[in-house]
Amino acid sequence: MTSFIHNWLRSDIQAISAYHVPKAQKMIKLDAMESPFVLDESLLERYIQHLAAQPINRYPDPSAEAVLTPLRELMDIDNDFGVLLGNGSDELIQLLALACRPGDTILSVEPSFVMYEMIAKFTHLNYQGVALDDNFELDVEAFLAAINTHQPKLVFIAYPNNPTGNSFERADIQRIIEAAGDALVVLDEAYYAYAQDSFLPDVARYDNLVVLRTVSKIGFAGLRLGLMVGAQNTIDELNKLRLPYNINMLTQAAAEFLLDQGEMIERNAQVVISERAKLAEALSNISALQVYPSQANFILFKAPDAQALFEALTQNGILIKNLSQAPGLNNCLRVTVGAPKENQAFMSVLETHYG
Ligand SMILES: *Cc1c(COP(=O)(O)O)cnc(C)c1O
Repeated sequence: MTSFIHNWLRSDIQAISAYHVPKAQKMIKLDAMESPFVLDESLLERYIQHLAAQPINRYPDPSAEAVLTPLRELMDIDNDFGVLLGNGSDELIQLLALACRPGDTILSVEPSFVMYEMIAKFTHLNYQGVALDDNFELDVEAFLAAINTHQPKLVFIAYPNNPTGNSFERADIQRIIEAAGDALVVLDEAYYAYAQDSFLPDVARYDNLVVLRTVSKIGFAGLRLGLMVGAQNTIDELNKLRLPYNINMLTQAAAEFLLDQGEMIERNAQVVISERAKLAEALSNISALQVYPSQANFILFKAPDAQALFEALTQNGILIKNLSQAPGLNNCLRVTVGAPKENQAFMSVLETHYG
């Protein structure tokens, strides 16, 4: 018997497998690039009072002014640049796709962030991915050729890249922006806090460049707050596509309070960066593993027996991301850098497994 929805729904959507989020009850959660840090006791009371004072019977401020001011300060965003807020940067990726005509092309690299391709499908766009090389480096000549062949409307580059963790060469990305011509180039800097370089200042130089960021990877994944930074007139036009009130009142209030804690955010990022170095070193000491360099708050590594290792970790209450079945990521696993104790627990399972 065919159900109603099977007759009703677009066949290309039926063919997509749903974005899967595994249950992680009571596990050490090192699968989703979340920050391991919770709010300090000393902040909690003021935070709760701030949230409780919100007039929840009213619609939120449609322009979310209270968020923009501390966000510009925290991320050092030039006052000449426009900022568009989204319910997570995922929503802004979707908004950019909605601005295209059906049949336009999104170009990115493979492997990269899976939402680029999923959203392209939802919105009747073509998706083309240019393969990274064996070390997950960008093949810039192949990418430039793909721009020529596919004439993309949107180019997405995650900088640093997810799930590989590396940042591509700045000069290569500049060549892509300059060669992209009519395409809007989107540099997705979800991991900016853990990276050495950023294209945010370059927004002043290139009118076909926008930069995406999010607070998800710096401690506030629960808020669902992302941003797009671009030339003011670019942002003004794209803002027409944003649903009114897309940033809810509690997110606005929480962000207003939390983004003001610049020192705490910076301190936590520094802990993650130093833990990343320790974790990379410990992983490299296991000769069976191949460890890839990271500018993000996670590390990609290749294990000869990825599935078995993943299961050993799960049995020990540790959840990471098993990418070993994904195209181009044969036997690869991705571990988020956690708190020191979590990373030690992770390493001790690995050391036993390969010991
Ligand atoms: C995590 C991630 C995002 C999603 O960010 P949200 O703001 O949580 O939607 C976007 N891009 C990349 C590359 C990511 O890794």
